[in-house]
Amino acid sequence: MTSGQRKSPIWHPFTQHALQDEMTKIVRGEGAYLYSADGRRIIDAIASWWVVTHGHCHPPIVRAIQQQAERLNQIIFAGHTHEPAEEVATAMLKLAPPGLDYVFFSDSGSTSVEVALKMALGYWHNIGKPRSRIIVMQHSYHGDTIGAMSVGARGVFTATYSPLLFDVITVPFPSAGQEQATLDALEAAVRDENSAAFIVEPLILGAGGMLMYPSWVLKEMKRICEASNVLFIADEVMTGWGRTGTLFACEQAEVSPDIACYSKGLTGGSLPLAVTLCRADIFDTHFSKDRTRTFFHSSSYTANPIACAAAKANLDLWLDPETRARVASVAAMQEQAIAPFRADIRFKDVRRTGTITALELETRDSGYLAGIGPKLQAFFNERNLLLRPLGNTIYVMPPYCVTTEDLDEIYGAIGDAADAVRRDHAI
Ligand SMILES: *Cc1c(COP(=O)(O)O)cnc(C)c1O
Repeated sequence: MTSGQRKSPIWHPFTQHALQDEMTKIVRGEGAYLYSADGRRIIDAIASWWVVTHGHCHPPIVRAIQQQAERLNQIIFAGHTHEPAEEVATAMLKLAPPGLDYVFFSDSGSTSVEVALKMALGYWHNIGKPRSRIIVMQHSYHGDTIGAMSVGARGVFTATYSPLLFDVITVPFPSAGQEQATLDALEAAVRDENSAAFIVEPLILGAGGMLMYPSWVLKEMKRICEASNVLFIADEVMTGWGRTGTLFACEQAEVSPDIACYSKGLTGGSLPLAVTLCRADIFDTHFSKDRTRTFFHSSSYTANPIACAAAKANLDLWLDPETRARVASVAAMQEQAIAPFRADIRFKDVRRTGTITALELETRDSGYLAGIGPKLQAFFNERNLLLRPLGNTIYVMPPYCVTTEDLDEIYGAIGDAADAVRRDHAI
């Protein structure tokens, strides 16, 4: 099969061009809506891959970007600093769980995870007790670079690259009633004297299928790591910025991670930026007149001033109680929307944490590569809805400006899709 007839030279992410070559061209975004070149208004029910929090082109963020672009658009971040980065760092430390003292900038969730892993190994190396084993949770996702893939679930996404991936210790996902097995496995894993860190998505495993677990498990996992001095890395790349109902998921477990990764909604979904926060003693093990202890990591656009200005505008919004009130009302609206589906036999499981809902269709066709995912996506696209099910799991993660009318449309279509699936088992 060759691609000679393709119209565009662009190779899109997570896209099988031989099956789906027609891309929806978007010309404008405003609030919860996207406008396509063919004149449609599409409801963005997944916040454009989980990044858009307040809405597309949110005015205070747009203004901050415009003003910063005219003043200073880029500066090497080694040997230099700038006001937007300083402000973001200060604001992040004010909002993040207590105990985090330093901020390292990068440009994506994956790079923030790579930075976290390197910080953890640097810590153990620099205190003279080198450790290199990372403990991970089953079904996790931490990004698509080689290191981030190594600590994520192995499967169809990673099989081709497995010769390059490093070994990890995996603890089972704490499904309801099975939590103790997770805690026991973690207890055993932290006792391995090569265990450097445990990395986990707090409360919700995103790409693994919007799998949810309770805050007491998160709290217990932190306690277990702490008792053995294994570093606890919270990957809040997706769960941050109100998604789980609180600003950060760790708040609900009163957990202060040793290292924490934030990205996606950091700029409100307007520009790529990430931060990795860490405890002072992790920084201090790198703080030395000995140059070999330098933290050897950078990217060309580290702490880009325009992206930082967007992040600062976002952080200001989070200081406004209105934003948190809005998150609480979206969570309540989401609960109301899924209530009728809770006892619905067309669904195997219906769940919610904060502003995120997941509805698992009862079907024989499951797993990410199940043909049903793309078919559902096409079905929703015809209804002018941006939804991108993970296999047979349909999830809704809207921007916080979503209205009840928007949710009615979204869940109406989900109900119709479930009917279609039941009728002919293939939609
Ligand atoms: C999306 C995601 C990442 C990767 O972020 P990118 O910006 O896509 O590199 C890492 N961790 C989690 C939990 C994510 O959801």
